[in-house]
Amino acid sequence: MNKLLIVDDSSTMRKIIMRVLRQAEISVDNILEAGNGVEGMQQLASHPDVGLVLSDVNMPEMNGLEFVKAIRKSHAKDKLPIIMVTTESGQGLLTNALEEGANGFVCKPFTPETIRSALEPFVG
Ligand SMILES: [Mg+2]
Repeated sequence: MNKLLIVDDSSTMRKIIMRVLRQAEISVDNILEAGNGVEGMQQLASHPDVGLVLSDVNMPEMNGLEFVKAIRKSHAKDKLPIIMVTTESGQGLLTNALEEGANGFVCKPFTPETIRSALEPFVG
């Protein structure tokens, strides 16, 4: 995996995800961050080589569902996988996000094992 994009409005959660990715021994050359879907779209525009997106569901400005819809206007499901990272309260939006083209999901709190099994189909 070349570049991975983590989108979450909590910088603490982004740090936790990065730590868990290391613990899960998922090898990524470069990890990019964004605080919501708007920033996420900006990162994707600046970095066309992003190979996987991990996105929160509940975020200000542009939530995870809107973000998935925006990505799928220009990036096909098999070209740029999106894994949603969600809590119980995000379940309604999560269902819609999967219908709109998200490839999978991980529930918070997660472990290196759950992250690994969610990402394994998409990382080399
Ligand atoms: Mg959030």
